[in-house]
Amino acid sequence: MWTLEARGELDAAALREAELAAGGLTVFERAVPSYTHAALVALARAGRVAGVVSQNVDGLHVVSGLPREQLAELHGNLFVEACDACGHEAVRPFEIRSVGCRPTGRRCDRCGGPYRDTALDWDQPLPPRHLKRADAWTARCDLSLCLGTSLQMEPATALAVRCARRRKASRGRVVIVNLQPTRVDRLAALMIRAPVDTVMRLVMRRLALPLPYTAFTRSAEGQVGVVRTGRQRASVRLRGADGAGPCRGVGEVAVHLAADTAPPGQPVWRGPLYDPARPATGEVADVDLSRWADTGAVAVVVLTRAGETTVLARVAVPAWPVPDDVEAGDRPKRARRMHRDSFPTATAPFTVPLHTIHYDDV
Ligand SMILES: [Zn+2]
Repeated sequence: MWTLEARGELDAAALREAELAAGGLTVFERAVPSYTHAALVALARAGRVAGVVSQNVDGLHVVSGLPREQLAELHGNLFVEACDACGHEAVRPFEIRSVGCRPTGRRCDRCGGPYRDTALDWDQPLPPRHLKRADAWTARCDLSLCLGTSLQMEPATALAVRCARRRKASRGRVVIVNLQPTRVDRLAALMIRAPVDTVMRLVMRRLALPLPYTAFTRSAEGQVGVVRTGRQRASVRLRGADGAGPCRGVGEVAVHLAADTAPPGQPVWRGPLYDPARPATGEVADVDLSRWADTGAVAVVVLTRAGETTVLARVAVPAWPVPDDVEAGDRPKRARRMHRDSFPTATAPFTVPLHTIHYDDV
């Protein structure tokens, strides 16, 4: 991707179009871990892999389940933001959508400091914490397995070279698996020109080590909320997992109101899960809930995609109606606003499955 961008061959318009067709999800948000990602998790859990040094920013090692302390992400991660003040790193289920360590607008969960994205631009220094980890593993590893990299970028090349040269008597501890030649082929004990998934499948078979999972489903996360907006009306909102942006994903959503949990009859609202025209509040339906007052009703939000219908969430409708004293106040507008702002909202999280990969088929 970066190569295409450097050559000016990255078709931004086509990418945006694909994003719209995917319900607003970026290519990185839809990606699933490869067989090799899953194999590395199995090897780490079995104590065979001390750490993984990655130059990828796609976040797939984290998504695949590799513990973060066993991962050095030298060029950052599109799904991670780091606090400027205390260094705390937060992994998000959505792409941060900026590069170059710019402020993201969110505040640190721990100290309140400003978060910045962690995806490095070309001229930026590498993150010290991750570099330190990579150095430590290089200094003591028995084997450095370089998977699917042409080793063009520093310091990854230097790490491989340092490992190969560490002790003269034990040189040749680098194994490279890559389709093209690399800059350090001559130092490698073994050079395998084959796809990494093919090689890792053979390695796992030889070690008789099963993958931690045989299939992996990538999902989009969000939350459904019922928010009171007036004396008799309420909004049903779908928000993305960031709590601010619209919910993303492909499918049609219907909102039913029920005194029990089964969706009855006609929905009170129906529309797309992702609508680019929808305001950032993610408000999808403005419905009159007055007849559901004090019935213990729930809003049942149903998703239909690819012919399949699933209940996304059930959200209890907040208590009703607005007390008279608020409406009868001498400054009703202000009173209503105060009431709306302070009124409890009910929310429920949900996930929308996107893509599933079956590793037996890879
Ligand atoms: Zn902080």
